[in-house]
Formats: sequence, structure tokens, C-alpha cells
Amino acid sequence: MSTRYRRGLWAVCLSLCGLGGAAAQQKAHVHGVVTLDVAVDGPTLSVQLEAPADSLLGFEHRPRTAAQKQAAAQLQQRLREAAPWLRPNAEAACQLREGTVESALFDEGAPGKAEEDGHADVDAGYRFECRQPQALATLELGLFEAFPRMQRIEVQMAGPKGQAKATLRRPDKTLRLPAR
Ligand SMILES: [Zn+2]
Repeated sequence: MSTRYRRGLWAVCLSLCGLGGAAAQQKAHVHGVVTLDVAVDGPTLSVQLEAPADSLLGFEHRPRTAAQKQAAAQLQQRLREAAPWLRPNAEAACQLREGTVESALFDEGAPGKAEEDGHADVDAGYRFECRQPQALATLELGLFEAFPRMQRIEVQMAGPKGQAKATLRRPDKTLRLPAR
């Protein structure tokens, strides 16, 4: 096989197989589309967010410039706090007990996988404890306001009444949890 031909194949694969390659290593992501897993178990409300870094930051490589580093640090801080973009209805009396944010982009050490396959996610997880979990009815999401590049939120919910799915599109804000 000539070098030129091989290079040609490689170029085709870079453009066509890019998503497939990323999918084999992690779930494929589509820029602008965010997934949210919401689970209610007793008094505990858990929310997992998975977003393409592009939809939150506008880039998916590790921060290089001072401005990018600052944007990444601000994003971590912002996501860890959950409020004001993730608010259970007040009647449920939920309090955020734990918020975590992870991304290959935030790792300083080894070369980022993010840079190898060209895509990177940001994962955030939240645990709320609710004093009136039976009153949980909605989650107010401020994600579209906070992140202009976000277009759609695919939601999976699991709770005492089984599972449900929902799709929120800009500018929807209110996620209705399955009725109990
Ligand atoms: Zn991407």
C-alpha cells in the first residue's frame, strides 16, 4: 500500500470514523446535547449531568491560554454549586449535600485522552437530601440560560413510580418528575 493511499485512508477515517472511534472509548456525544440522569431513592435525589465540554466551554482540549484556564476553573466552581441551575421544587425541602465535577480537561497530569480523540465530556454529579421527597414534582433547570451553546437536554428519570424519559429544548426550564 502506498504511503499516499494510506494517508488518504487515514484522512477519510479521521473525518468519518471520528465519532465511531470516540464511541468505542466513551459514549458518543453530540455537541449541544446534554444528558441528565435523575434518580429518586427514599429521601435522596441524585442528578448526573454529562455534557460535551464544547457545550459548556466552547472547546474540548485542555486549557492552554490564561483565558481558557480561567474559564475551566470558573466552570468547575459553577457546576459544583448546582444552584441556580438545578432547583428541586421548594415543597420537597431538598438540600444539596454533595456536588462533584470531573473532566479529562481538568486533569493536569498525564496527556489527556481528550486531546487524543478530539472530544471531551464534563461530568457532574449531585446528591440532594429531601425532607419531603413525596412532594418532589419538578426540577427547575437554568442550564440553557447559563450555557448558550446547549440546545437539548435528554433526561432519564428513575424513581418509586418507575422510569421515564423526557427531552427539554431551549428555552424549556421545567423538568416534571413522574407523578407519584
Ligand atoms: Zn466533542
